Amino acid sequence: MSATKAPLWFAFREERLLVHRGEQAGVPEASSLEDLGLGAVFEQEVGFLDGRRCFAVDLPLDAEAPEGTVFRELRGLWGVGEALFLMAGRAKQIVEWHRTHRFCGRDGTETVPGPTELAKQCPRCGLVFYPRLSPAVIVLVRRGDELLLARSPGFPPGMYSVLAGFVEPGESIEETIEREICEEVGVEVGNLRYFGSQPWPFPNSLMIGFVADYAGGELKVDPAEIEDAGWYSVDGLPELPPKVSIARRMIEEFVAGHRGDPKTLKTIKAPE
Ligand SMILES: [Zn+2]
Repeated sequence: MSATKAPLWFAFREERLLVHRGEQAGVPEASSLEDLGLGAVFEQEVGFLDGRRCFAVDLPLDAEAPEGTVFRELRGLWGVGEALFLMAGRAKQIVEWHRTHRFCGRDGTETVPGPTELAKQCPRCGLVFYPRLSPAVIVLVRRGDELLLARSPGFPPGMYSVLAGFVEPGESIEETIEREICEEVGVEVGNLRYFGSQPWPFPNSLMIGFVADYAGGELKVDPAEIEDAGWYSVDGLPELPPKVSIARRMIEEFVAGHRGDPKTLKTIKAPE
């Protein structure tokens, strides 16, 4: 019998993930957390990666990185590869859920593990708590050969992206798109087409991507949310979001569609 591969440990100290030093910063593997010289405040199995079991761990605040490892911000770890990044995002959200759902919001009783793997329950009133997810729409608006890009006050200097906003209670995704775009930049859109989705663990978004066509109105930005917005052609794009983001993928497919890459035309091509 072949030896079982050692599990992977997605261990967080506050917001930072324990990774190997260097550019190819994977997470440590070990048969147990104790083998890494660490103890857990919270530990939960969260899935499989390359045939290895994966564990999410919340470390105590005074935990020290074992030799050859370092704590790093997840945002800076896009280079680790998509599968590892997604699992790290899942682990981060589950650790954060544990930290923020230790007590029942209704009566303050300490919660216990719930009826399923990813649930906590109040033993007093029975209320069940699942990890929190915040659905958000992200929309590439096109007007002929141009696309609408905007920057929020919190973006890195010079960076522009497509528009995004959270779904509110009672709202359909289509309504969110119309409301957000109207509120943020004052234009109307139509002909929505689904693009794809991406979990975004900062802190718990699920980005749901659409392409839409401009349908009327003049650009007028809401200064509370948007610093600047404009129509851009593929030959004059500003600085864009990082490659791992769905926003970047949407913009790149738009650009590729314009350059005649047939693979992308189906998603992005304007209606006949
Ligand atoms: Zn309760």
